[in-house]
Amino acid sequence: MLAAAEDVEREADRLTELDAAIGDADHGGNMRRGFEAVRTALRTDADGAGPGTPGAVLMLAGRTLVSTVGGASGPLYGTLLRRAGKALGDAETVDVAGLAAALRTGVDAVAQLGGAAVGDKTMLDALIPAVDALPRGFAAATAAAEEGAKATVPLQARKGRASYLGERSIGHQDPGATSSALLVGALARGGG
Ligand code: ADP
Ligand code: MG
Ligand code: MG
Repeated sequence: MLAAAEDVEREADRLTELDAAIGDADHGGNMRRGFEAVRTALRTDADGAGPGTPGAVLMLAGRTLVSTVGGASGPLYGTLLRRAGKALGDAETVDVAGLAAALRTGVDAVAQLGGAAVGDKTMLDALIPAVDALPRGFAAATAAAEEGAKATVPLQARKGRASYLGERSIGHQDPGATSSALLVGALARGGG
C-alpha cells in the first residue's frame, strides 16, 4: 500500500491527463487523495501500531478509499481491497496463490458492483489479466496489467463517464486501467 501511494503520487498528473481526455480530469487527484489517506490510516490505526495482518491492511485501505474518494474509482477500488482483505482472513502471512485467490474475489466484486467486463475500457481490462497471470508470478501480473491498460486505447468505453463520449472515447488509454497497472506494479515491488 505504501508503494502504491508512492506511485500514485508520482503518476497523478499523468492519470489526470488521461482522465481529461475522456472523463472529468480528476482521476489523479482522486487517487492521490485516496492513497494519501490510506498512508495516514495505516500509520495512525488505533494504538498507532497499524493493522496486524495483510488482510487487515487491505480492509483498512479499502474502507479508507471508499470514504475519501468521491469518484467512481473510490467505491470500486475500495471494494476490490475490502473484499480481497476479507478473503485473506486473519492469516499472518500470504503466499502468491492465496493472494491471487483473494484478489480474484475482489475483482469479481468490482465487476459485479460496476457491471463491467473485459473489453468495456475500465480498470477491469488491467485487473482481470493481472489476476489471471498472478499465479505465474508478480512480474507476469505486472506485464499483463500494463498490456491490458495499453489494450484499452482502441476500445470504445461502455461503462463509466467515458462511455458518454461514445466513439470519441476511442484512441485514448483508460485512466482507471492505467492506475490499476500502477497498483499491480506496486504490489509486485512489495511482494518481490
Ligand atoms: P469518475 O469517473 O467518477 O470521475 P475517476 O475519474 O476517479 O472517477 O475514475 C474513472 C475510472 O473508473 C475509469 O477510467 C474506469 O477505469 C473506472 N470505472 C468507471 N466506471 C466503472 C465501472 N462501472 N466498472 C469498472 N470501472 C469503472
Ligand atoms: Mg474522473
Ligand atoms: Mg469525477
